[in-house]
Amino acid sequence: MNFKNYIRNVSDFPEKGIVFKDITPLLQDSIALAAAKNALLQMLGDNTVDKVVGMESRGFFFAPMLAIDLNAGFVPVRKPGKLPFSKISETYSLEYGEDVLEMHSDAISKGDKVLIHDDVLATGGTASAVCKLVERLGGEIVQCNFLLELQFLNGAEKLAGYPIASLMKF
Ligand code: IMP
Repeated sequence: MNFKNYIRNVSDFPEKGIVFKDITPLLQDSIALAAAKNALLQMLGDNTVDKVVGMESRGFFFAPMLAIDLNAGFVPVRKPGKLPFSKISETYSLEYGEDVLEMHSDAISKGDKVLIHDDVLATGGTASAVCKLVERLGGEIVQCNFLLELQFLNGAEKLAGYPIASLMKF
């Protein structure tokens, strides 16, 4: 299946000058949705996984589906102030300014094998902050996988040393 046929470019969203890759056409097509989930699983090969970590908010679409098929648990990474229990946080740089991501401190056990999933790899700032959260709790990152990678933003360089895989490259 050519998954790129299900990605829509939206100009000037969320700000003027940005061409946003919209994955909702893929989500709303029953065949493409299931095929994308299966293709993400195939990219993982024979690796076993204890936890699938998904980032707020578009990482939440596929991460729990992957977790069910992998017999793994799902762990949400959220923006500040959303998680109710004891948590750890990581600050990372954006093009202008900084942002923070949080994870519950009991979400990963030492030695857990972890798959990190998000919809899009852009500059890699988000995923690399999540890698740090997972490693601080003693998790071992098996793969960071994405529906799509915006290669011109060089996110793969920021994730050097971690296995990464993307279903689509633009
Ligand atoms: P990064 O931290 O620069 O790699 O940005 C990745 C984060 O931004 C992901 O959580 C994505 O959901 C979001 N993102 C960046 N660009 C796009 C896009 O074109 N479409 C959808 N999400 C995007």
